[in-house]
Amino acid sequence: MKKCPYCGKKYSDEVALCELDHYRLVDDDDPAVVPAPPETEPETNRSQPAVKPSSDVVLGWFLIWAGIIGTLYFTFGFSTSLPGSDVVNLDRQQNRLFGFLESQVTFLAGLLMVLIRGRTTRSK
Ligand SMILES: [Zn+2]
Repeated sequence: MKKCPYCGKKYSDEVALCELDHYRLVDDDDPAVVPAPPETEPETNRSQPAVKPSSDVVLGWFLIWAGIIGTLYFTFGFSTSLPGSDVVNLDRQQNRLFGFLESQVTFLAGLLMVLIRGRTTRSK
């Protein structure tokens, strides 16, 4: 005798799978056999993965603040002259420009993340 571990329906030894839920049948005399998972997943496992909009918004705000701080730093705190010299160094001036632009891009990326994610959350 074989038995379905899921619904408990009993079958003869020739049958391998339960005809109702496709569970692998176990020997009725041996309860220690672990039932194998069915070939087809239950309908409840097919639901979409949970969306986490809050983490994206947090990351967006982080990028916004990083962009603001970077912009302020490269505008006011970044010296374009070498230490001990008043002459403007072209390399450092270029670094300042790139840092400034990167901060702007970071700020805009964060702003977009917050705006897009916020709009998606609101429409639900
Ligand atoms: Zn069954």
